[in-house]
Amino acid sequence: MNPFDELDLDPQTLAIRAGTQRSQFGEHSEALFLTSSYVFKSAAEAKGRFVGGDEGMVYSRFTNPTVDMLQTRLAALEGAEACIATASGMAAILAVCMGLLKSGDHIVASKGLFGSSIQFFNLYMAKFGVETSYVDADDLAAYEAAMKPTTKLVFVETPSNPLTQLVDIAATAEIAHRGGALLVVDNCFCSPALQQPLKLGADIVIHSATKYLDGQGRVLGGAVVGSKALLEEVLRFLRTAGPTISPFNAWIILKGLETLDIRMKAHSVNALAVASWLEQQPGVARVFYPGLPSHPQYELARRQQKTGGAIVAFEVKGGQAEAWRVVDNCRLLSITANLGDTRTTITHPATTTHGRITPEARTAAGIQDSLIRLAVGLEAVKDITDDLARGLS
Ligand SMILES: *Cc1c(COP(=O)(O)O)cnc(C)c1O
Repeated sequence: MNPFDELDLDPQTLAIRAGTQRSQFGEHSEALFLTSSYVFKSAAEAKGRFVGGDEGMVYSRFTNPTVDMLQTRLAALEGAEACIATASGMAAILAVCMGLLKSGDHIVASKGLFGSSIQFFNLYMAKFGVETSYVDADDLAAYEAAMKPTTKLVFVETPSNPLTQLVDIAATAEIAHRGGALLVVDNCFCSPALQQPLKLGADIVIHSATKYLDGQGRVLGGAVVGSKALLEEVLRFLRTAGPTISPFNAWIILKGLETLDIRMKAHSVNALAVASWLEQQPGVARVFYPGLPSHPQYELARRQQKTGGAIVAFEVKGGQAEAWRVVDNCRLLSITANLGDTRTTITHPATTTHGRITPEARTAAGIQDSLIRLAVGLEAVKDITDDLARGLS
């Protein structure tokens, strides 16, 4: 129970206020509790905490006050009952799969998932007898057709990386539920400031807190958000196996959340301006951005997300040489595949994030050699477009 529940606060306020716990010192800014363990007042108190299910700290693989504050705040932002913070986004996905799946189960996933998520499903889940079928992100009939009696999870990312294809969360939730499966949404790109999948029918939300929740490119972290009952086994896995978040990282992310709303709005304003500018450039063949009316799912984006977010992709006229010329002529933008930072990043997906798959698979995924992905940061728009213009002219 969030102590601010009865005040019916706006998410912008919850991002700053929810979850705060004060020590006996009355600190205004949340404290960082760097401690692995906790001291008990008596043998009986220790017993109560260890085996009696008593409230209170036990050991930082289980609970930590700073981590608690992050979890409460993020749960409030997603409109969820519970949140479990993890060491990274991948640790969040690992914990969900280990907690909820068993050998023989099946996953239906949207194509274009984050590369390590695909690797994880194909190498490790498969090794333990969990198969994954991939379907086009925006093809509802394909989800329906891929469902099997053993399907336990439908796992999607929306918008997709790098082409910003949207998954219709409400419609996909219905398909998953009809088949007796749970819908898991990786909400990394939008963050709860722009999209709240649980309110649209999703069961579990995954975060790479490394991205927009921190927002300044400092630490790794992740989270699983959902109902208490659903997360019970996920939590047991985490406490047993230990991909727990460091309290230090949790504190950084907790502080990052305070500016999440204002940052995501600013990222979106900048990204829309850059995307609109790109559409006007003679050297640009096509722009992919859910905030542009030219996006094939613009109407869905308006229903499902508050704004278009920070990720913009575009195809230059020509091929790899022309795309590389844009990347290499940038003097301000960072050439890196990372995203979720105040700094704008630029990447050539065909030779980096999607460089290890076959050219045929790349074409099937719609990743042309002429494609460039931007994660638009918070610099002045003119400085970003001036930088892109250097290589486009
Ligand atoms: C980065 C990312 C992840 C993995 O998160 P880490 O914190 O790097 O482990 C998962 N999903 C998406 C969409 C991501 O961008």
